[in-house]
Amino acid sequence: MQAYFDERQDQHHPQTYFTQGQMKQPQEIPERTGQVRDGLRQAGVTVSGPRDYGMAPANRVHDLGYLRFLESAHRRWTAMGASWGPEVLSNIFVRSPNPKRGILAEAAAYLADGSCPVGAGTWESAYWSVQTALTAADDLLAGQTMAYALCRPPGHHARVDAAGGFCYLNNAAIAAESLRSRYPRIAILDTDVHHGQGIQEVFYERSDVLYVSIHGDPTNFYPVVTGFEDERGRGAGTGTTINLPLPHGSGVEAFFERLQEALTAIRLFAPDALIFDTGFDIYREDPQAKIGIDSPDFERLGASIAELKLPTLVVQEGGYDLNSLGTNTEYLMRGLSATGS
Ligand SMILES: [Zn+2]
Repeated sequence: MQAYFDERQDQHHPQTYFTQGQMKQPQEIPERTGQVRDGLRQAGVTVSGPRDYGMAPANRVHDLGYLRFLESAHRRWTAMGASWGPEVLSNIFVRSPNPKRGILAEAAAYLADGSCPVGAGTWESAYWSVQTALTAADDLLAGQTMAYALCRPPGHHARVDAAGGFCYLNNAAIAAESLRSRYPRIAILDTDVHHGQGIQEVFYERSDVLYVSIHGDPTNFYPVVTGFEDERGRGAGTGTTINLPLPHGSGVEAFFERLQEALTAIRLFAPDALIFDTGFDIYREDPQAKIGIDSPDFERLGASIAELKLPTLVVQEGGYDLNSLGTNTEYLMRGLSATGS
């Protein structure tokens, strides 16, 4: 299997993380990718740099006003003078009514929470994270059976017109649109511990893209307002959103029961290709974990995905325990490679 990553994805260096009424140490930090790359090396997976596809693929998913905000926000914020902080972080969260006059009003509209500051390197990193996903998707378009995109920053919380939950551009959704040029029906399986409300939003009324997410119960847990079982899609997309939340404290067996449910649904949908949206924050020691599996379980997870025998794009989402990221990556890659790809 081929993996993709660009060093410029590490220019995003968040200094703030406002959550549960307090400032915490940022968790989505550049050191994550070094650990994952160690795991890839251990598993014998080679890492190459991405190609540049420009912004048209991202604009198919994201609002142009939002893209203009992300690209310009830090410059415009810095121009406000030294009394403003080092990165764009709104203390106001108002999407509507908001005429978006000035950078602070735009930040209020386009930053959905306190975990997505925009610093000097954020746009560059988010841009190359998307290119990494698109390059891996291109491998599938060229007939490869599997490719891995080491996306950072992650993407599944990024909405059509808002950043949130450490995410700025929705790598998986953008890659899904790209894959549709060869594969008419796409399934996205998201096993990050958080519900990917951005992906759900993009495809909520679409029948050609199935979104299945296994995650910790969103009650008082990010993203808090979506990810419940009764959200099933709308209009033509009715039935093609499947949320499989797990009670906090759930362990290995509960997770794999939900996984079987997800895999059965994917088989019934009969997609032409799969996006496996993977987060290591389901590991039991992860600071975000509300459900917990052990390191060797990532091999079992990977092997279960490989058994679908679908062209598979693996997109990286969360995972914040630096001590285990390498090991867990290695286990996952061994599982994914189990049936030979
Ligand atoms: Zn997550």
